[in-house]
Amino acid sequence: MTFIAIVTFILGLCVGSFLNVCIYRIPLEKSIVSPPSSCPGCGNRLKAIDMIPVLSYILLKGKCRNCKAPISIQYPLVELVTGIVWLVTFLRYGLSIETLMLIFLFTILIPVFLIDLVHMIIPNGLVITGLIGGAVFYLYHLFIKPISLYDSSHWSTPLIGMVSSSGILFLVALLSFVIYKNDGGMGMGDVKIFLPIGLILGWKLSLLTLFASIMFGGITSIVLLILRIKDRKSAIPFGPFIVLATFVCGMFGYNILNWYLGML
Ligand SMILES: [Zn+2]
Repeated sequence: MTFIAIVTFILGLCVGSFLNVCIYRIPLEKSIVSPPSSCPGCGNRLKAIDMIPVLSYILLKGKCRNCKAPISIQYPLVELVTGIVWLVTFLRYGLSIETLMLIFLFTILIPVFLIDLVHMIIPNGLVITGLIGGAVFYLYHLFIKPISLYDSSHWSTPLIGMVSSSGILFLVALLSFVIYKNDGGMGMGDVKIFLPIGLILGWKLSLLTLFASIMFGGITSIVLLILRIKDRKSAIPFGPFIVLATFVCGMFGYNILNWYLGML
């Protein structure tokens, strides 16, 4: 168990390194497979020794080996966060299809978090990748073994999750567009990313995720308004809140639901 946990963490670090490439290249509409990574400062092609997750950054003291241009702290942070997310998901759900599904979903959502935060877009490629993976897990549920994350062996649960969560958010986005005459930070990208989230989490967890993301987003917006960091006209990206909510609900959704229903 400990050995598998360590392997999971290291695999997460390596995938995090690939996510850095995605985060940098997808918004520029560049290929994520070629050319090999190079320093954006001097164009020097990175060697294997410069691409060891987290360690290379520490050994190089955060500077390019060739031109000494600073390397963004975002690179080791994304690697570390991905490794930790993989590890805690494994520790929570063990060696199971649920761990695999959640690791897949969270891994897609890490670039969603950063790309939406910086560029205010959620790339379609990430939505489609999520849907393809979600479809594979759905087939597993239908033909091999019911998935416990859905909390129902019924065939419709993931589909209801996909349609209800993105459908409700679509109505919210439409309403805010009609009322405020702008997109107010909530866009079609946010609606679309709930398609794979709903398909992978099933309807209970995805509706909880939708509710939690609106809560997180609402509270943060109010705090930013009070602190005058943002004004009423500035758009706050909603994607990062969806990502945080998906993580919380994917990990502890049924604990939250049981606690809440126990209070009624
Ligand atoms: Zn350089």
